[in-house]
Amino acid sequence: MPASVARRIKTVFADIDDTLTTGGLVPAAAYQALWRARERGIAVVLVTGRPAGWCDHLARMWPVAAVVGENGALAFALRAGKIQRLYADRPSDAARKLEQIREQVLRDVPGCKVAADQAYREYDLAIDFCEEVPRLDDDAIDRIVHVFESHGATAKVSSIHVNGWFGEFDKLMMCQRWSAEVLGCPLDARRATFVGDSPNDVPMFRYFPHACGVANVKQWVHRMQALPAYVSREIGGEGFAEIMDHLLKHRVALPHQRVRDDSHPA
Ligand SMILES: [Mg+2]
Repeated sequence: MPASVARRIKTVFADIDDTLTTGGLVPAAAYQALWRARERGIAVVLVTGRPAGWCDHLARMWPVAAVVGENGALAFALRAGKIQRLYADRPSDAARKLEQIREQVLRDVPGCKVAADQAYREYDLAIDFCEEVPRLDDDAIDRIVHVFESHGATAKVSSIHVNGWFGEFDKLMMCQRWSAEVLGCPLDARRATFVGDSPNDVPMFRYFPHACGVANVKQWVHRMQALPAYVSREIGGEGFAEIMDHLLKHRVALPHQRVRDDSHPA
């Protein structure tokens, strides 16, 4: 990423699994990068397929500006000590139809299971093909996706789960709503970047002209219809830290550019 681009970036939208994490853990370098970004006035918004319950914790206790969860179903941000919540619309029979899908997936695709974090979800059904089960092959992942789609649901493949839901939303749409409704300004794709690693990040890779992938994104290229403009040398959380280092190296730290910090009053 050229310096002329890097110095304009004010907001970093970042996936969590295999982008902020390496082998399932957030390495110290990635967590420190979040703090360095905050101190230098870059707003980091986590954007994930992970459940609402996780997002509530992340938004409260991590040095981030907001958390978009369940693939864009919701956004939580701590503002003046309270969690502000945005939710996408969904059909009233969504829960009943997802229950039918759950039964059919478990019957039709041996080896998968309902994701361990399902109890903390509000909108979607997550099917584990890699996290706590032996990794399933591409054919099995396709069959899981097919069951969701045959019921009219949207299905997205992350690096560990297939997530499916009813409702017209995705990660990008909720990031745009967060920017407009919480910050009060439209999302400017030229002054922001997205960092991700897998096929469920494609709407973000397509939208942000300066999107970044961590090195492990390369294993998913055959399942992606849009690719990031830049790729780190390192994988996972170390790759995220490398990207943040690059942005901060070129950042001109002027006092008036600091993000107003009213999210952590203590
Ligand atoms: Mg990921």
